Amino acid sequence: MQNFSLHTHTIGFDGQNTEEQMLEKARSLGWSKIGFSNHFIVCPIVKETKMYEAALKRGYQNIYSASFEEAIEKFKAHYERIDELKARTGFPIYKGMEVDFFNNDAWREGFNRALDELKPDYLIGSAHFVAYRNTLYNMYDVKNAKKEEQNLLLHKYYQNVRTAAKSGLFNFMAHLDLMKKVGLGREENFSEEERQTVETIAKAGVAVEINTSGFKLSYNEPYPSGRILALLAENNVPVIISDDAHNIERLGDKFDEVEKMAREIGIKKFYDPLAPLQPNVENNRSLFK
Ligand SMILES: [Zn+2]
Ligand SMILES: [Zn+2]
Repeated sequence: MQNFSLHTHTIGFDGQNTEEQMLEKARSLGWSKIGFSNHFIVCPIVKETKMYEAALKRGYQNIYSASFEEAIEKFKAHYERIDELKARTGFPIYKGMEVDFFNNDAWREGFNRALDELKPDYLIGSAHFVAYRNTLYNMYDVKNAKKEEQNLLLHKYYQNVRTAAKSGLFNFMAHLDLMKKVGLGREENFSEEERQTVETIAKAGVAVEINTSGFKLSYNEPYPSGRILALLAENNVPVIISDDAHNIERLGDKFDEVEKMAREIGIKKFYDPLAPLQPNVENNRSLFK
C-alpha cells in the first residue's frame, strides 16, 4: 500500500493548509513521507487572461507568474519553510513542483534556471492549458470554444502532454485526462489520441499518476479513466497514486480503492521517484545535486 503522497498543494499557492498542517496530518496517517508540489506556471501573457482575474478574486493568483524570477521567488520562500520544517521535525519532506510545460526555447531556458536555483527533489509534468496562436486557453475556454476549434484544442492538449513527457524533465505526468473536468475528451474519437499519448509516455520512460481527485466529478473514477488505465497496463507504464490534496482532509483519499482498481486492471509497476534505483532517475537532471 502506498503510504505517501507527492502531489499536494499548500497555502501561499492554491492550497488551504500550511506545510506544517499537511505534515501533521501525514504523520497521523502513519505515512513514510510527504512531498509538496505547488503549481509552477510561468507564462508571459498569463496575467492578461480571464482566469488570472478569476484567480485574483478567489485569492490564489500566486500560482501564476509572468516571469521565472517571480516564480523562483515564490518557491524560494516555500522551500525555505519546508527546509525549516524538515530540520525541526526530522520527517522526510520533499520539495516538488507541478509544472505546466510550455514548448518553447525561452521557457526551457528559464525553467533550467529555476531548477538550478531551487533544486527540487522531483517534478510532476502537467498541462492545465493549451497555448495556441498566442492565446492561453484554460479548460473552461476549451469548453466554451466552438466544436471544431474545441476538437483542435483537445488534440493540441494531448500533443502538449506528449511533448512534456518526451522532454525528460518529469518524474511523472499528472491527471492525463484532466479535460474531463469540463466534460471533454471522453468521446470514443479521443481513444486514439490517448493510445498515442500512453505509447509516447511508455517510450519516454515516464510514470503516470492515478489521481483520486477525479472522484470529485460525476464519472466515479480517478484521473485517468479506466480506458487509459488499461492502456497503461498494456504498455507496462509505472504508476504512482496521488490525492492532489489542497487540504488536509483529502490526504490519502481513496488510495486503497484505486490501488485495488489498478491491480485489477493489470497494472503491475508502482513507482516512487524518491526510492533509490528507479529506472528513469537519469532522465531527471533535478535529482543530480
Ligand atoms: Zn493539476
Ligand atoms: Zn495539483
